[in-house]
Parts: sequence; C-alpha cells; structure tokens
Amino acid sequence: MTIADPQTLTDVRLVRHWIGGREVGEPTIERHAPATGELVALYADATAEEVDAAVAAARTTFESETWQSTVHGQRASWLERFAEILTENRQRLAEIDAQEVGKPLAFALGDIDLGIAHVRQAAAIARTETGEAFPGVSHGYLAVGERRALGVVGLVIPWNFPAQIMLQKLPYALAAGCTTVVKPSEFTSSSAVVIAQLAEAAAIPAGAVNVVTGYGRTAGQGILEHADVAYVSFTGSTRTGRVVAETAARQLKRVGLELGGKAANVVFADADLEKAADGAVFGAFINQGESCVATTRLIVQRSIAERFTAMVVSRAAKLRLGRPEDPEADLGALIHPPHRDAVAAAVDAAVAAGGVLELGGEIPGGELSDGAFYPPTIVSGVDPTSALFSEEVFGPVLAVSVFDDDDDAVALVNATSYGLAHSLWTTDLDRGVNLGRRLEAGTIWVNTCTDGSPQLAFGGVKASGYGRDAGFEGYREFTEYRTLQIRTAERTSPFAGR
Ligand code: NAD
Repeated sequence: MTIADPQTLTDVRLVRHWIGGREVGEPTIERHAPATGELVALYADATAEEVDAAVAAARTTFESETWQSTVHGQRASWLERFAEILTENRQRLAEIDAQEVGKPLAFALGDIDLGIAHVRQAAAIARTETGEAFPGVSHGYLAVGERRALGVVGLVIPWNFPAQIMLQKLPYALAAGCTTVVKPSEFTSSSAVVIAQLAEAAAIPAGAVNVVTGYGRTAGQGILEHADVAYVSFTGSTRTGRVVAETAARQLKRVGLELGGKAANVVFADADLEKAADGAVFGAFINQGESCVATTRLIVQRSIAERFTAMVVSRAAKLRLGRPEDPEADLGALIHPPHRDAVAAAVDAAVAAGGVLELGGEIPGGELSDGAFYPPTIVSGVDPTSALFSEEVFGPVLAVSVFDDDDDAVALVNATSYGLAHSLWTTDLDRGVNLGRRLEAGTIWVNTCTDGSPQLAFGGVKASGYGRDAGFEGYREFTEYRTLQIRTAERTSPFAGR
C-alpha cells in the first residue's frame, strides 16, 4: 500500500497536524528547499488548543479498554506490519526528507532504511518482552517485575534526520504501550505526518501516533509542559536541551535528552592509515557534517600528522556538492542560508585565530548559488582552546590538531563539554580498548566511526545529554518498573492477634 503525503499532487505540500486520525490546522509556516530556495511546503503552526487536542487524543487512546487490554504480541504484530508499509513507502519518505533537509536522495534512502530497522527491532523487543520473576526471594513468596508503559509521551525531533530520528523513538514507545505526540522540526515537518498516517495503515489505533507541527517555543514547549504528558524524548541542540531540562525539572517530569556533540577521531601512528583516512572523511562529511556524531575533530599523532592530513585533504577534495536528485552528490545543502553563514563565520574565525585553511572555506557560486551550500572544509593547526575545537559547528568542517602520547590524546578528546561519540584508529587492539574506555562518551568506536545498529543503545554523557534511544535501553526509557508481590504461605505479623 502506498499512501501519499498530504497534497502531493500540488507543487507545494500542505501539511496539517495529525490528531486522532484526522488532519487539523491551517498550513502557514513556509519551508523553502535549502538546495534551491524554492517554496516546497507549508506546515501548520500549532496553537495551544491544537497541542491540547493532540495530547487529549493520545490520552483517550491510552486509556481506552482496547489499548489497555492490548498485549505485547499484538503490538509486535502492528510494528511488523508498520515496517512493511514503511518499506513500501521508503522512496516517497526519502524524497520528502531529501528535499526538506537538502541532502542527497541516496543518503536519505539509507536514513529511512535505518529507521525501518528500528521498527523491526522494537517489534522484536515487544515480541520477546517477558518481565522478571522472583520465585525464591523468601519462602512462600513470589514476586514479578514488569515494565509498564509511562502513558502519553512526547517525541521532539530535530531537522537533520527527520524520519530516522522519529523512527528511532516512536516504535520503542509503541512497543512499550505508550501513545505519542510527535513534534517534528519547523524546517522538516512533512515526513512525520506521513509516518503517522502509515502507522494507522498498519492498524495501529488512531490516537496512538499524533503529530503537531510548529515551533519549539510553542508546540514543543506546550507538549513538554502538558500535565498529561508523562515523559518527553527530546533530540536537539544542547542549548535547547538545557531549556527542556529546566522546564521538566519544575514539574519533576522525566525527559530523555539526545543533544549536541563534538566527536573526536584519534589516529595513532600505527593505524591502517588508508582506512583511517577514509573513516576521517566519512565521519566528518556525511550528511554535510550536520550530524550529532560527526567526527569533526581529527586528532593525529605528531609523527604522521602532516602525511595523514594530506591524505584526508586529497580524499575530501574529491567529494561533490549537489542537489538531492543529483546521483553523483556526496554532500547536499545545509539546512538554511543563515546556518550556512554561521558555518562560514566559524571557519573564518578559526583561520583568523591562526588555523591553516587546508581545503574549502569558500561559499560556492555558479549553479549552486541559489542553495545553502558549503564545501568540505579542513582547518589544521587548530588550538584546543579555540572555538572550532570545542564548539559544535554542525557543518562540513574538520578541525585538525596534533597529540604526542596516549595521555595527551585522552586529555584532548575529553577537553570539550560534549560526550556523545568518539573514534580511535590503531592496529594495537589493547590500546584501542584501554584508551577507548578512558574516553568520555556514550559511544566509542575502534577502527570505525559513525557506525551502529538498532540493537545498540545510543546517547551521550556531559553536555550531550542523558537517557538512551534505541535497543532495549531505548525501549526501557518509555517504561517504569513495577513489582507485584504475592504471598503464597502464611506470614506471621508482629501485630497478629492485637
Ligand atoms: P533544536 O534544539 O533547535 O531543535 C530541536 C527540536 O526542538 C525542534 O523540533 C524544535 O522545534 C524543538 N524545540 C525548540 N525549542 C524548544 C523548547 N523550548 N521546548 C521543546 N522543544 C523545543 O535543534 P536542531 O537545530 O533542530 O537540531 C540540531 C541539533 O540537534 C544539533 O545540536 C545536533 O547535535 C543535535 N542532534 C543530536 C542528536 C543526538 O542523538 N544526540 C541527533 C541529531 C541531532
């Protein structure tokens, strides 16, 4: 079955909220494609009443007898069907995200496939969820531990991987038995509504997946502050994450925070340098560098620094910028022109502070000048005290620094406030494992980077947030643990007979 997104037949997509299985709201927020500047979509701008309606729809479904009596196996079947329907619609979803994010279509297809793998993983968790039994804690006593759904949960999504990040949260929430209100980014809202419609095509009851589009300070904040929302899984910037954490703390509401990063790629002199150079280019420039785990700090051992930097520069120089439909494109446009300008300013500042521009650094003209394009850029000699070393740029910019020994490498990697992911390249696996364990991050890669699987939980430490998406840990975020304690033999009360 193929379901079209709303109004695919017109040039401009008109995207309304999806509440209780119905389209609601008037599309007014303009979205211009970042690769061309053309108006491609209008999204509804959620009012407080529309946020209320979405939460009410999720709550009504959650409290319904049908939902409450649904068992894990049934939810697994829904998710298995959902994965099939998403697969049938992968091209359409990828085209929407490629156009609205500005990324090459081939990469957007990969994002959708990873999202579908999460749906299958969540189905597997639902199908095999058993809880725990404690038959022997004491004589005549049986206890059961079970994970219960939290209730209505909010899922707040950024713009860099719109469908993928929604699908890295939604199926685990549904597997746990939660109902949801999703808030996509105001720059990339269309695929969320299509995904919600596809969930219903998979027989997931109306009201289980609601979407409100609009801005963070209204729609996002409205979901977060709503008394009937038990938990919010948020992915976005560290700056917004702090606001979310403060708001949630006032209500003692649980939140999961997947925030920014400044991943390091550490290359030792004994590494397989060809593979490490391929990894350095892939990790820094995939998704135009607009990735929370982009390995945007290359930290190279001094004895190979010059040679290795040249290897990385020569590979990155061959990467092609292009529009989403260009099959040769390696990198697309950045999310919007002001962001492109901020990336350019960060590079200019680093060079003014003494960094050496090895590649890129010029906004392209010619046929790409209508879009928010910025080329792969490499700056060497980046001082650890500089902004380019420590702040997330979120663009195709690689900062190169040098280290001398193991302790120096660890200190440099851990020197930023972030802790999402880091990578080490060495042929000495003892060193890979032992140094890897000293790095502060939720994910450590040895001889790989920007890698993963839906089975592996994902998340950060320090300013990269807390909580985990994906895998069993991701599922567990949407549950609370309850014990049921049953006495099967007489217990003598100290108050007996009184
Ligand atoms: P952002 O923080 O600006 O926005 C993220 C989402 O939060 C959007 O939907 C936005 O509308 C919403 N929002 C904004 N203010 C809000 C508020 N007060 N209350 C509730 N919601 C609010 O981030 P972005 O620019 O969309 O995304 C890029 C950032 O996301 C980068 O910092 C990147 O590193 C991070 N990111 C992290 C991960 C991860 O898994 N750790 C993954 C992808 C992106």
